[in-house]
Amino acid sequence: MENMFDTICAIATPLSAGSIGVIRISGEKSFKIIEKIFDRTVKPGIINHGWIIDNKTGQKLDEVIVLPFKNPKSFTGEDVVEIQTHGSPVIIREILNLVLENGAKLASRGEFTKRAFLNHKIDLSQAEAVLDLINAKTSKSAALAANNLSGTLKTEINNMREKLIEILAKITASLDFPEDVKEVEYTEILSVLGGAEEKIGKILQNARCHNVLREGIQIAIAGCPNVGKSSLFNALLNIKRAIVTDIAGTTRDTISENIDIEGISATLIDTAGIREGDIDKVEKIGVENSKSVIDNSDIILCLFDGSKGLQNTDTEVFELSETRKKRLYIETKQDITGKTQEYIQSNTGYTPENPIIISSKTMYGIENLKKAVFNEILGSNIENSSFLTNQRHQEALRKALSHIKIAKSAAEIEELQDLISIDIKSALLALGEISGEVVNDEVLDRIFDSFCIGK
Ligand code: GDP
Repeated sequence: MENMFDTICAIATPLSAGSIGVIRISGEKSFKIIEKIFDRTVKPGIINHGWIIDNKTGQKLDEVIVLPFKNPKSFTGEDVVEIQTHGSPVIIREILNLVLENGAKLASRGEFTKRAFLNHKIDLSQAEAVLDLINAKTSKSAALAANNLSGTLKTEINNMREKLIEILAKITASLDFPEDVKEVEYTEILSVLGGAEEKIGKILQNARCHNVLREGIQIAIAGCPNVGKSSLFNALLNIKRAIVTDIAGTTRDTISENIDIEGISATLIDTAGIREGDIDKVEKIGVENSKSVIDNSDIILCLFDGSKGLQNTDTEVFELSETRKKRLYIETKQDITGKTQEYIQSNTGYTPENPIIISSKTMYGIENLKKAVFNEILGSNIENSSFLTNQRHQEALRKALSHIKIAKSAAEIEELQDLISIDIKSALLALGEISGEVVNDEVLDRIFDSFCIGK
């Protein structure tokens, strides 16, 4: 059970050999604890250099840097001490144990960030951005998460809330003091509600794009044996990861790697060549595996060998994936066929008759292929917003939007303003969930449980 009065500590860096390790302490007793185990007086606001001493044995443990932050000027809003040790897992553990023995408790997942939220240092959207930033796999998603951390989503939501609060205050005043305050014009209510409706609608329109940027996508490379799947896998990664041979069935298992497709983080999977009939047991398992990878992917790259032309067996393999799935048809080995292709924005999609032409040998068409994947996944949804929303924000926005729509319909027929105000209040509550003003413990636990210890 977490207790805000406890002083917590954790290792904030990965527990492996490195140049430095960081132990973080937060809470009332932070300064007392460090005084007991540091060989000199710690002065807040400066970098303190000295030794950590085991106060039971007098043994010197490590030469360290101690960074003290006096509340409220710290990440958590409490007294915080960070100890920078040498990056030996043994030393880091020993110092952590010493801190624990001297009165701290081990922090639970995300507890430092949770305290920062509970002490109003950041709102909930910023706390979530900390996690997004840690987990970002491309520079684009990292940049958007950093924007959220600096408060762009918070400001967007707060601006909307302020306008709704202002109109709600006017309605309430005219209802409470009808003799002194005039009824609010319906046109004014409609203008505020219309503005909020438009803004939320726009954010939700980009929800899919936000989800793709936050969570990434899975791309499967499919096709008959020897069409050039492993070669394309290597070409997209720009390394030799998959084994390339001209022996059918070389790739018996699926191999995956992460790549950046124009800012989208993608897991690229090279499936085993799919062929039925006279194949051994191991290859059969590989083929089954490939089918399930294809089913779970967001987009399938359907390859056929350009030097042989499209075969019936190719079409059979392509038909293994659901027709609803996004697919790109790719003709390989352009260096043999000599075919050329200008990159066309894929409005009509790529068909087996109008495929993307590539050569993994010369890298011909590889950049075009990346652009086509990006377009197929995000299409015209690409937007220039400076923030990201997650599923929780989107759910809250949808709830707020439905109340705003009800309030707007009521205002259009000049319904009693008392009734209109009920839905404005509900919309405000839903928007408050994003910043965490209105949020229950269960939701908080769910959010902070996905953090690592020490963050
Ligand atoms: P997979 O079985 O579909 O994974 O196919 P591989 O990538 O292992 O390639 C099968 C054979 O085709 C190998 O001999 C490759 O060197 C050859 N190959 C693959 N891509 C190209 C290409 O772009 N040009 C040429 N000339 N040969 C290729």
